[in-house]
Amino acid sequence: MTPQEFPLLKISDLNFSYGNTKVLESINFEMNYGHISCILGPSGSGKSTLFNLITALLHFDAGSIKIDNLELSSIPEELVRTKYIGIIFQKFELYPHMNVLDNVISSIWHVTQDYEKNKQLATGILKNMGIHEHINKLPDELSGGQKQRVGIARALINSPKLIVADEPTSNLDTDTSEKIMEILGGLKSKEHGIIYSTHNLNNARYADNVFILKDGKLNEIEEERLIKSSHFSDLY
Ligand code: ADP
Repeated sequence: MTPQEFPLLKISDLNFSYGNTKVLESINFEMNYGHISCILGPSGSGKSTLFNLITALLHFDAGSIKIDNLELSSIPEELVRTKYIGIIFQKFELYPHMNVLDNVISSIWHVTQDYEKNKQLATGILKNMGIHEHINKLPDELSGGQKQRVGIARALINSPKLIVADEPTSNLDTDTSEKIMEILGGLKSKEHGIIYSTHNLNNARYADNVFILKDGKLNEIEEERLIKSSHFSDLY
């Protein structure tokens, strides 16, 4: 069975509420290997909630999320975080007491404890991220952009099928954001898919498909409409 026989990610009729507050309503979404999808939406529109459901950090009320045709809830948790999904966090979430190298290795440690092999792999990825000369530094000694490069390397080390990034540039200045988005866009590969969220319309151009989350509903935006818009509020 080749992975391409099924969508990489398929979300069907997904609903989620916090108590009486409905956040997501009948969300349907599909993406394939090799694709980059962007979810646009202002603060509070439910992007993090959706991403937390996709990464199994939250459990949904009704509907289905399938990765590679497997119900997310049926995949053992340790495999969700390794083989299936690599997460890039908004606030980097690096271990403050670990150096750059060990932060990246931390993600593969429960898959294989061969430190030398892990070190070689992590160093190669950090080199691709342009940050290998900082491998012995602690996160506090890095700039925001450097921290996020480490965060991306950590998400990649297990070669996950799906790379999920919830507002990966929202804690970065404009120039650094641009560089991080270029790195994300450059990760496009048939081996995996990438889904990211942003509240910055400018960041949407790295995606093959762009969706907007509004009033709990997710809708794809046609390219023409996207080109004509200067701010995501124009898309409402
Ligand atoms: P976004 O990521 O687009 O900013 P969120 O997913 O964080 O949006 O939030 C969507 C809605 O859910 C908001 O109205 C927010 O206040 C609410 N919300 C988020 N987290 C919680 C929570 N833990 N408990 C209750 N409501 C929440």
